[in-house]
Amino acid sequence: MVGQLVAEPATRREGYLKVGTMPDGTAVRLPAVLINGRHPGKTLYIQAISDGDELNGIAVIHKILRTVMPEQLHGRIIAVPIVNFHAFHAKQAFSPVDNRKMNRCFPGRRDGTSSERIAHRLFHHAVQQADYCLDLHQGGVQPMIDEVRVRVDQKHTLHKACLELARVFGIGHILDQKGPKGQLAQAAPEVGIPTIDPELGGTHGWDAASIEKGVRGVRNVLQYYQFISGTPEIPEQQIVVKKFVPLVSNEGGFVYYRAELSEHLTASQPIADICDVFGNVRESIASPVEGVFWAKPIYPMVASGGTVGKIGTPIGYL
Ligand SMILES: [Zn+2]
Repeated sequence: MVGQLVAEPATRREGYLKVGTMPDGTAVRLPAVLINGRHPGKTLYIQAISDGDELNGIAVIHKILRTVMPEQLHGRIIAVPIVNFHAFHAKQAFSPVDNRKMNRCFPGRRDGTSSERIAHRLFHHAVQQADYCLDLHQGGVQPMIDEVRVRVDQKHTLHKACLELARVFGIGHILDQKGPKGQLAQAAPEVGIPTIDPELGGTHGWDAASIEKGVRGVRNVLQYYQFISGTPEIPEQQIVVKKFVPLVSNEGGFVYYRAELSEHLTASQPIADICDVFGNVRESIASPVEGVFWAKPIYPMVASGGTVGKIGTPIGYL
């Protein structure tokens, strides 16, 4: 049962979870799907669009919902395809109602701001039922590699379980770093639910390649934890980094990249040339560390002191 949503064994129900009201009294409702498998088992919670402009996750959920049959399912899947209602409708990351980032609001507050109230309803009426939790994100509209984040401290009792979930998702790159307070990937482990934050690329609209990897990742989780039959496709070796180092430009100008995202960079490897508006190269930016070229801004221009990319470091393997 999710809010008012109830599904008998071997059935699937679609409905809405009321999380607030608009100024005119119209209900603010989050779509929710509950698939209750024919066979007993665990519960997977999966959500998308916690940041309003991160759309790849909803396409992943759609594809999973089209292919997982309740007759074959062990346990339950709870899917919430759109979490940040107000931000999604405004086509932006943050909620325009309280200007908050939803992924700093979990587990929410009953008497909080609009985003905190939505987080609270969701956390208490859906997330808390889960044995595993997937919070699908991406690098906003900025180009980023496909990766998975573990957001609890390495001393946390669920750190191992979260890292294992990240490995099983199997996208090839993992950030293992305690995140800021209020992330679902921290709040859910606090109540005993292993949780990861898959980051499926970064783009405006949909990116087919990132969506495919996300679908593979969710299916891996469903297969590995025995919700559905089949063999997960988990890479033999995956890269794990602990932090990001920014690539800072001293000059303002236009950025001509000399390295590709996901490239393994050596320390002092040239990453980008900065050209002035007349086309003269003013600066060549080298990587300050060995690492993976992780993310870059959407536009190839920078003001002095701005960043032209992020490097994931140090490189470890899992
Ligand atoms: Zn996000």
